[in-house]
Amino acid sequence: MKITEHIQNANGKTLFSFELIPPLKGHSIQGIYDAIDPLMEFKPPFIDVTSLREDFIYKEQENGLLQKLAYRKRPGTIAICAAIMNKYKVDTVPHLLCGGFTKDETENGLIDLHFLGIENVLVLRGDARKGDSSFVPTPNGHCYATDLLQQVVNMNNGVYLHEHYDNMLRTDFCIGVAGYPEKHFEAPNLKTDFKYLKQKVDMGAGFIVTQMFFDNQRYFDFVNGCRAAGINVPIIPGLKPVTASKQLISLAKTFHIDIPEDLSDAIHDAKSEKDVKEIGIEWMINQCKELVKFGAPVLHFYTMGNPGPTKRIAEAIF
Ligand code: FAD
Repeated sequence: MKITEHIQNANGKTLFSFELIPPLKGHSIQGIYDAIDPLMEFKPPFIDVTSLREDFIYKEQENGLLQKLAYRKRPGTIAICAAIMNKYKVDTVPHLLCGGFTKDETENGLIDLHFLGIENVLVLRGDARKGDSSFVPTPNGHCYATDLLQQVVNMNNGVYLHEHYDNMLRTDFCIGVAGYPEKHFEAPNLKTDFKYLKQKVDMGAGFIVTQMFFDNQRYFDFVNGCRAAGINVPIIPGLKPVTASKQLISLAKTFHIDIPEDLSDAIHDAKSEKDVKEIGIEWMINQCKELVKFGAPVLHFYTMGNPGPTKRIAEAIF
């Protein structure tokens, strides 16, 4: 079922969902199941699986010289989605990236997804490779999420890259895109972000999932800003509790977000890492209560493979 249908069928009740990262190459899929099992009691209608483009690694050759190689550390997004659907009978949302994929690879991936019965995709530009100072598109790949979105919309209309017959198979993907309550770090201002977000929705995106945030007012302002800009699709808040003191820096640095002073002060004053985790979970429970009151369609958790804190929060909310 499509994400938009799940939200519609919930009749205003806030749903629970979460996302997982594929295991490192060479590791079993059991880690994915272990991260899902404790959360199934909260009946997620869908589970997202992220995608990671290649990074560069250096391999020493026999002559002692270093060879630069492109290496994808966490492949398997599509297969994991299919395996989860098969095992748990829930919908899955694979993240599709511009970076790391040619347009032809994307087309073939979309055909695989359609044949597997996967009806939803989240289309993203993707992060820059480690070692690149900014995003570098893959040759014959897409530069922006809008370009990738157009490819998915085209396939929904039976328009492929190289074939244009009348009777081409039409896929029927429900398409999600990313939103940034605190602005995408490369956008000169929120107005520019809204412009491209509106473009994505006008092109056919059916829902938005936000970057994580720790101050609900940012989400409320973002939703209101979207509505004022004519963006009227569901806006799903992405959430992650702070679980370690080092995340005060790493989350702010990696995701370009602010940590509210009250939260960072409490974490600084905590006596142990165990206390930090409790503070982070308590903060997120309060955030979630307010988001449910606001009418957020879904609370979507970035579990990062660690279901424990999300389970605690879900127990308090659902
Ligand atoms: P875009 O929409 O392409 O925007 C990138 C920047 O360009 C923005 O500043 C925007 O304002 C601007 N822009 C957009 N369109 C245009 C245009 N047509 N012309 C000129 N400028 C434009 N990363 C991963 O690698 N894997 C994942 O699985 C993943 N999952 C994510 C899930 C969520 C919910 C979120 C919020 C982010 C996720 N990311 C993931 C990170 C994401 O890939 C990065 O934030 C990336 O830098 C931007 O992606 P985007 O789709 O928002 O890009």
